[in-house]
Amino acid sequence: KLIYRDLVEDWDKASTLPKSLRAKLKSELPLEIKAETLRSQDRRTLKAVLSLSDGLLVETVLMMSPKNRNSVCVSSQVGCPLNCLFCATGKMGYYRNLTVVEIVNQVLFFERFLKKIGRKVTHVVFMGMGEPFLNFDNVLSSIKILNNKEMFNLGIRKISISTVGIPSAINRLRDEKIDVNLAVSLHATNDDLRSSLIPINRVHPIKKVLEAVDSYIAARKRKVMFEYILINGVNDSPKEAAELASLLRHPLYHLNLIPYNPTGIFKASNLERIKGFKKILGEMKVLFTQRFRFGSDIKAACGQLASKEPHSIK
Ligand code: SAH
Repeated sequence: KLIYRDLVEDWDKASTLPKSLRAKLKSELPLEIKAETLRSQDRRTLKAVLSLSDGLLVETVLMMSPKNRNSVCVSSQVGCPLNCLFCATGKMGYYRNLTVVEIVNQVLFFERFLKKIGRKVTHVVFMGMGEPFLNFDNVLSSIKILNNKEMFNLGIRKISISTVGIPSAINRLRDEKIDVNLAVSLHATNDDLRSSLIPINRVHPIKKVLEAVDSYIAARKRKVMFEYILINGVNDSPKEAAELASLLRHPLYHLNLIPYNPTGIFKASNLERIKGFKKILGEMKVLFTQRFRFGSDIKAACGQLASKEPHSIK
């Protein structure tokens, strides 16, 4: 309670505890979270680079919307083994899975920050560095801590996991009966293109991913979100809009169109292409939303998280 509700940052300030216990906790369970923060020009996005006990760095992002919505985008791994062509995290390589404490600390860091301005974390999305389903156990344990009434007390439906789509892990989530929101990164309508953008599609092709999603929906009766980045000249043609519409024809599928954030190779679709793409989706009666871009000026937007010096901060 002292850690997650009162947000004590230093055991010396935990005046309800005896001095001897405070000293012991101080050495055995340090509360300090070492981090450097960057703030976007519009001041609504904060990126924190946390340094872990082994010197590795991990990035986490806070997005503050009007109406008091404060979302934290957490990382599940240091780096990422998936190496998707459009994502900066893959370029830094893969180091290791994060521990439960390292995942939870990302939220705790911003919860402490927000407390000072009278706000609270309202949403957590596993959309930072790494593939959450390759660190399933720790991600699940951290979700339980976030959701626990005695701890963060964050509603389960305020928590989302974004995955590249690993069928066995989707099945596990289905069986765990935990009602977090599930989002799947689709980004292409056929296996050739998807495999060229997302190498793991060769192991888990679109059909297999959708089968797992359907079985999840049948069991859990929950909506599933499909993410689709619009990349200029790569996946944004009228033909692909129509294919996407056919692929996602299901009452509980929802599409989220994401502006591509530059990371080097590709360009974002221009407004005209996006307009044309959306027009076809609308004509084919596909429900979709469009993601707002946060924090691209501080390299905090989707796919831009990559620590400059992953090895050490010393
Ligand atoms: N490994 C998880 C989480 C990754 S990040 C997954 O694959 O879903 C969350 C989302 O950002 C994913 O949909 C990812 O594909 C997307 N993304 C990656 N690079 C991006 C970029 N440059 N611009 C926009 N979105 C990007």
